[in-house]
Parts: sequence; structure tokens; C-alpha cells
Amino acid sequence: MKITGVETHLLQVGARPVMPGAGTSRPADGHGGSRNWLFIRVLTDEGIHGVGEGSGWPRVVRAAVEDYAHLLIGEDPRDIDRLWHKLYLGSMGHGLLGTVGGGALSAIEMALWDIKGKALGLPVWQLLGGRFRDRIPVYGHAKTPERARALMALGIRGVKVGFTGAVDIDAVAAVRDAVGPDVDVMVDAHGPSWMTAQDAILVGRELEQLDILFYEDPVAPENLDALARVRDAVRVPLAAGERVATLWGMRPYIERELVDVIQPDTGRAGGILQMRKMAAMAEAHFITVAPHSGSLGPVAEFAALHVMASIPNALMLERVEFDWPGRAEVVAPALRTVDGSLPVPDAPGLGVDLILEEIARHPSVRNVADFPDDGMAFEPGTAAEHPYVQTRLSRATRLRRTQP
Ligand SMILES: [Mg+2]
Repeated sequence: MKITGVETHLLQVGARPVMPGAGTSRPADGHGGSRNWLFIRVLTDEGIHGVGEGSGWPRVVRAAVEDYAHLLIGEDPRDIDRLWHKLYLGSMGHGLLGTVGGGALSAIEMALWDIKGKALGLPVWQLLGGRFRDRIPVYGHAKTPERARALMALGIRGVKVGFTGAVDIDAVAAVRDAVGPDVDVMVDAHGPSWMTAQDAILVGRELEQLDILFYEDPVAPENLDALARVRDAVRVPLAAGERVATLWGMRPYIERELVDVIQPDTGRAGGILQMRKMAAMAEAHFITVAPHSGSLGPVAEFAALHVMASIPNALMLERVEFDWPGRAEVVAPALRTVDGSLPVPDAPGLGVDLILEEIARHPSVRNVADFPDDGMAFEPGTAAEHPYVQTRLSRATRLRRTQP
């Protein structure tokens, strides 16, 4: 079997995301209805095609996928890890690949697994060593008790409260009270650049009282030493890793045991086998895996299910349950949360295919966040000032804690 071509298919819907902290009102689950997805198809001379998805700046990832394509033409798509290393070496001169390179490798490698599974008539989880489970529990996003109850009505047993500004401890406590002790609550601070280790520790100590499953990205991912200080000072499980790519990107989180949960993003971690290797490294440190999926499309969700089915240390899969309804229209079959879980696919390969006509109805324009009309000149008192520059002023407004 030989690879004959690689196609890319971009999709964009909804408003572009706005700058964090810009003060623009967003829905309770925070995504603003915006979705930017890159899907690919790898074609072969035997009529089998594989599908993949790459995140991490989809329009740029598309260019990287197209740049890689000539290294794939004529190759046997079943030599998955060898081809991954061929591509990796092929772009070595560009420096560390980051999430853009990780997105391109993820999309291509995912499609190769799909081809191999289809050729053998087996689901990908079967090729990864078989499965531990046939359903993967998901967790959803909620900032209010009402939204948390809507998730619970779907049987969902995990609720994440996310913040792009201050971590509002009262809001976390309200959700915790609403869901009761049998449902897990997580808090995502989104790795804000304005949060020092000292302030993240203050927030973490407040969270100690609320029995949360994990405190995610308490400090900027660029600052692992700050994460280590939070780790040493706070008795709350920590989670991180959604913004790094490849086994080497995740390595310090695991080797230094900076977190209890790693969160590789299935669309940019580097591929299914990279995630499988991360999971094995994490297993040796008694760390669990909860893939990031806040903004991913449905193909990456399928890939995450195969990985999670096959590893012993799978925790939960993130899922934005109430996002764009078209999520169910651009692929077949569509995933549906049933009793708080997604079923592990049984069909050969990934078990999903693209509906190209539907994807083509939503052309992509650009993929960077919009800035508000009042300017992002980093002027004193503006939203822009607070997250990124004069972060230490008005500190009390960004350390919102339980009222005494
Ligand atoms: Mg996150």
C-alpha cells in the first residue's frame, strides 16, 4: 500500500475568540460559539483513506501539513512511527516544532492509524494493545450551578469551572455545593501570564477546602519553576500540559512530578503514539491522563477515545458539551454523550469519516483572537493592561477570594 496524496479541509464557525480579560461577555461555557478546525485526509493507492485533525493554529498547521506531504507520497502508510520520525527529522532545521508542528504531525499520524485499522479491519484501540473500557467518562464546563445541573442531567459526573480573569472562589464553591460530593469539580486558571506563583498559591489554598479533582494551569506554562513552587505549597492535585507538544514537551511535567494529571491535546500533542508514550511515561509516575479537548473537533475526539480505551491511567475526557451544533453534522457517525460517557468506537480504524460538503460550507478566514474596539494599547485601566503588563496593580481585583 502506498500513500498517493494528502488533502486539507479547514472549517470556521462563529465569532473569533476575544482577548482574555477584554471584558466582552461570553456564554457561561466560554467558547463564544467559535470553532476553528483543520481536518485532513491521507489517500492511498488501495482506495483506503485515513482522516485526521490538527489543532494548535489550524490555518498555519494546514501549511505545515502541505509542506510535509511530499515526504509521505509513495510511502507505506502502515509504518506509522517510522514515518512520524521521517517528518520530524524533515523539519528539524526549523527549530523546536511547538504546537504548530505538533498539530501537523498529529493530523497526519492520526490518519495513518485510521488507514492501518481499516486495512486490518480493526479499531485503533485494538492495535494499541486492546482496551480497558468500552466507555470513556467525560467532563463538561460550567461556571454556574444552573449549567452544572444541565451537565448532570446528561449523567456527566465531572464539571470544570474555568476563568480567564480572577479565579472566583465563590463561584467554584457555588458549583461544588450544587453538584454534591459525588460529582468531581475542577478549576482551570488557563495559565495566566499575570498570575505569579505566590498568588497561585493563595488561590490554591482557598481551593483546598472545596475537594476539587484538580487545579489546572495555575501559572503560565512558560514558567515550570513557578509550577513547582505551587506544587510544593498547595495540597490540591494539579493538572497541566494542554499547550505542549511531543513526548519531550510533556517530559518535565512527568519526570519532575509537577502535576497529578497530564492533559495532552489530541490535535497537537504529536499523534496517537506520542500520547500513548506520554501515558506510559506518566504511568511510571502514577500520573493520570485527561486529554485536553476544549476546542477540538470531532475527529480528534475519536482519536482520544481510542487512546483512552487502551491505557490504564485514563482519567476523564474533556468535552464542551454545549458548543456548535454542527459538530454532529461534519462527521459521521456523530458522538453523543450517553450517561456521562462516550462509547469507544468499534468500527475499523478511527471509526469516523468527514462529510466534506458540510465542512466546505464553513470556510475559514483567520485564526487569531480579535481585540476589542476600544483598543489594546495597554493603557492604564484598560482590559489589555491587566492580563499582560501592569499586572501587579489593583491586585485585589484579580485575587477574588471568599468573602470573610
Ligand atoms: Mg485548560
